[in-house]
Amino acid sequence: MDPPVVPPNSFLASLERRSAFLENIVHTCPEGIIANDNEGNIFLFNASAERIFGHTSQEAIGKISASRLYPPGGAREVKEYLYSEEYGGRGLLVDFETEIVRKDGKKIPIRLCCSILKENGTDIGFIGFFTDISARIAFQARFIESEERFRGIFESARDAIITIGEDGNVSMANLAAQELLGYGGENLSGMEAIRLFPPRFVDYWKELSVYASAQEPGIERRNIELVVLSKSGAETPVRLTLAEKIVRGQRIQTVILRNISHRKTLEEELRVQSITDTLTELYNRRHFHSLAQNELDRTLRTRVPFSLLLIDVDHFKRYNDAFGHEEGDKVLRALGDEIRKNFRTMDTGFRHGGEEFLVLLPETSSEAALIAAERLRKRFAAIPFLPRNEEKPRKVTLSIGIAEFRPGRSIDDLVHSADRAMYAAKNAGRNRTVNFEHLVAKFDG
Ligand code: GH3
Ligand code: MG
Ligand code: MG
Repeated sequence: MDPPVVPPNSFLASLERRSAFLENIVHTCPEGIIANDNEGNIFLFNASAERIFGHTSQEAIGKISASRLYPPGGAREVKEYLYSEEYGGRGLLVDFETEIVRKDGKKIPIRLCCSILKENGTDIGFIGFFTDISARIAFQARFIESEERFRGIFESARDAIITIGEDGNVSMANLAAQELLGYGGENLSGMEAIRLFPPRFVDYWKELSVYASAQEPGIERRNIELVVLSKSGAETPVRLTLAEKIVRGQRIQTVILRNISHRKTLEEELRVQSITDTLTELYNRRHFHSLAQNELDRTLRTRVPFSLLLIDVDHFKRYNDAFGHEEGDKVLRALGDEIRKNFRTMDTGFRHGGEEFLVLLPETSSEAALIAAERLRKRFAAIPFLPRNEEKPRKVTLSIGIAEFRPGRSIDDLVHSADRAMYAAKNAGRNRTVNFEHLVAKFDG
């Protein structure tokens, strides 16, 4: 029998059109839609459900129990939450994340919205809307993994790494940063970045960070040596690298600090070594020139004179020849010690070379220098040296020349004058001190 013909403008026709329209929506909906009765018999299974679950609607409708779409216990859990207050209130389940089991047995993470179907006030079953969230979960997993990898590098880095936000406060600091700055285990975030530097560097830091900001867009690096201030107030020399980046409109500065105190100590040791005479541990000739130049500049400013002693060991060749070079070295070391002991802390002794020494006496006239020189000469002459395999102690004497700096002359002139005075002392019989001023006076007279 043919179906009855429905007139196109009738109420029935419009009902039919609405029903087809709704069916179309259900069919094309990107979410998987499944409806089942109270016994779990499926009566609606749309195209997206087919895609998510791997069953065709023919395989599912009336054939599979809805509980079989979940792993064991999963359906019961969904039902419990549906009737609980959680996830949207009683009778509703909103954005509940769980797993379903596909036809091939594979578990898929989904987000589920579910509600109770009613007809004339009676519960007749359930309708669920399923969204496959495996792509998002995989992305999250990758994100977490990359975040963890980044964390690992960040935390295990030997250099201190600090990020600073637009407010000028520390937003992140790794373990090395906490260690370097003496905040063991404490969180540095929220701290003002300028507090990481000694007050005298604060302006410099501000300038530096503003300069980096001016280099937009992208990343600008500054690479400089600076000093950081630890919690205890101690200062550590560092090499600082500053990088800046705009992240989602926010300016983020990354500061990498490498502790260079070890290098600085080495540098300082090398510097001291380079200006120290190894035998006597007095300064060497090279350092004499830089210190003497400072004295010269000061004298020109203050008009207060300074003097120089040039000390030479008498008949040292003889001593070396008689007792050996090592015994000679002991004499030179003893002279170094005497020079250190005999003068004021502001005076400085130098080994000029061989058995010649210099003493720089700031703010001292040649007359006052003569008194100090004579004191050294007498003390040294009294030292009994007992060379190896000798029974009788020996005495060693010094000849000393003194010169006072005269404005208009150079350091070399000053050394030359002291040398001339020293030779005058030699010529006069050694073991004595001669003041160049007296020589000049004598020449003049
Ligand atoms: P004078 O009284 O005229 O100064 O006689 P002198 O023998 O001291 O002078 P001279 O310049 O002839 O000899 C200096 C000697 O100093 C020669 C050199 O072997 C010795 N001498 C120089 N440097 C050292 C050193 O580092 N250790 C030792 N043991 N001797 C040195
Ligand atoms: Mg000499
Ligand atoms: Mg000599």
